[in-house]
Amino acid sequence: MKTNFTDAQLADSDTRESNTILRTCVHCGFCTATCPTFVLLGDELDSPRGRIYLIKEMLEQNAPATADVVKHVDRCLSCLSCMTTCPSGVNYMHLVDHARRHIEETYTRPWPERVLRRVLSFVLPYPRRFRVALFGARLARPFARLIPGASMLAARMRAMLSLAPARVPPASPLAGARVHVAEGARRGRVALLAGCAQQVLAPSINEATIRLLTRMGIEVVVAESAGCCGALDHHMGHHDPAMRLAGANIEAWSREIAGAGLDAIVVNTSGCGTTVKDYGFMFRETPLAAKAAEVSALAADITEVLVRFGYAPTREVPGLTLAYHAACSLQHGQKVTAEPKTLLRRAGFTVKEPVEGHLCCGSAGTYNLMQPVIAGQLKARKLENIARLRVDAIAAGNIGCLTQLAGGVPTIHTVELLDWMAGGPKPAGLGGAPLVPDASDAAQSSATRV
Ligand code: SF4
Ligand code: SF4
Repeated sequence: MKTNFTDAQLADSDTRESNTILRTCVHCGFCTATCPTFVLLGDELDSPRGRIYLIKEMLEQNAPATADVVKHVDRCLSCLSCMTTCPSGVNYMHLVDHARRHIEETYTRPWPERVLRRVLSFVLPYPRRFRVALFGARLARPFARLIPGASMLAARMRAMLSLAPARVPPASPLAGARVHVAEGARRGRVALLAGCAQQVLAPSINEATIRLLTRMGIEVVVAESAGCCGALDHHMGHHDPAMRLAGANIEAWSREIAGAGLDAIVVNTSGCGTTVKDYGFMFRETPLAAKAAEVSALAADITEVLVRFGYAPTREVPGLTLAYHAACSLQHGQKVTAEPKTLLRRAGFTVKEPVEGHLCCGSAGTYNLMQPVIAGQLKARKLENIARLRVDAIAAGNIGCLTQLAGGVPTIHTVELLDWMAGGPKPAGLGGAPLVPDASDAAQSSATRV
């Protein structure tokens, strides 16, 4: 694609990067067929190619974003399905990240939306604030259907309340512990991204991760001062808060690397994993560049680490059939596709995959709150495809997807299922009745040093 940036514009590194990306696109349109918003809406401007044109014009003119551009960029899920499909290697992720930042800097959203985005940014990345907000939402949840009106604001309020869990689990006793000592001879040492929203919604995921890794002889450290990866702010175009959160993680993990060393930085929320793996790019022109590149190189999804260290189940084959839902951030963002299915099959599960597995479930960070109508349609489509498989549970590696698809068939994080089959407790989400004859379902405790 021909571009017309001036030399002065190209002095800016983000614009230079976007220029390179735009010039890679050959307008072939292959990406349109696998873009969820184009599939649903059929509008070229809601396809990757259409958005690429809009972004190109906006950046070239260096003008404030228009309401029309904002509408179509906002409708993008950042699912990155287009990047998997594109034969030219167009890095749509970096392009849309730049566009979102430009939009936030130049466009004034209607005030209810500004307030909502600020509230999400203030609450979601901070577990204590999020926990308090969830208690409030839980009380208001029964009234979600009573919110009147067909406006986007009303739809967003209803979506927010209906996504709040009926019960907020207690904080994990492992949450405050810093080092989780390996059982037996130590084979490795990793840092775990404890995350933000996930540790409040489902602390059992981090617990399973720590149990499983320490049982495999891997020491797990939750680095002091590490927290939210910054993805939630990053995807909303809030550049400075995102960089602050990410920078704190880079410093925290760099201290661990320089100290006792790390074999990996384990991420069990794939949306976060995609961002941590991109820290090297995000910080490329900052004093943290070298440290960020090192952190990104060490970042790995939990399933990648389990394959590397040789996961082996110890329980009987469970006789359970799972639908494996490939989170977009895992399959498109990180290109981690085989590992989760290989591990689940190794653990003894029968694994089925729904048709249209490349299409997003509509979760996409805060997308299901900001674009509840499209998100709802994608969720219904995904659940319909999964229902045809007749499975006992849905496995996925991202808390956003697990929350989005919850309500019918149990939704369980992959690592909880793998931990169970390697001696951990049965995931609570599978219900009370034992699905496997096993007398030793008592929680396994890892040796923990604070
Ligand atoms: S990221 Fe997803 S929604 Fe956005 S343009 Fe690409 S395929 Fe479409
Ligand atoms: S598939 Fe790639 S090269 Fe073709 S239009 Fe889409 S982004 Fe451009």
